[in-house]
Amino acid sequence: MPGLPLPDAQFESLAFWTGGERGELLIHRCADCGLWLHPPKPVCRRCLSLSVAPEPVSGRGTVYSYTVNRQQWMPDVPVPYVLAVIELAEDPALRLTTRLTGVDPAEVRIGLPVHVVFEQAEELWLPLFTPIAEEEGAR
Ligand SMILES: [Zn+2]
Repeated sequence: MPGLPLPDAQFESLAFWTGGERGELLIHRCADCGLWLHPPKPVCRRCLSLSVAPEPVSGRGTVYSYTVNRQQWMPDVPVPYVLAVIELAEDPALRLTTRLTGVDPAEVRIGLPVHVVFEQAEELWLPLFTPIAEEEGAR
């Protein structure tokens, strides 16, 4: 979406913002206890291990919460658009905040099955989410 400011991608968050170039949603995970860590951190919050590195996830999840933005905050950004918290399939506690794409805001609901799609913006690949088509057997 033109006009939205890009995230500040650096250090440990770089993998998250650039994995989409290879079609991968990369989430940091602790190699010692298996905990997924998002937003990315260099230290595991559960076992304090430093063996933390990005790993690809399935890119599937469900809408945990969402809001429809109808306010024209920025002149270049078309409204309405949907901001959502996605619960990733790997762990119910693994959630990320993103934007939904390819969906009528009126059709969005809690629990809607979604999968990641990447939108390139300069050198970054923004992980957005779109509903999984019903013919894919999501329901
Ligand atoms: Zn750990």
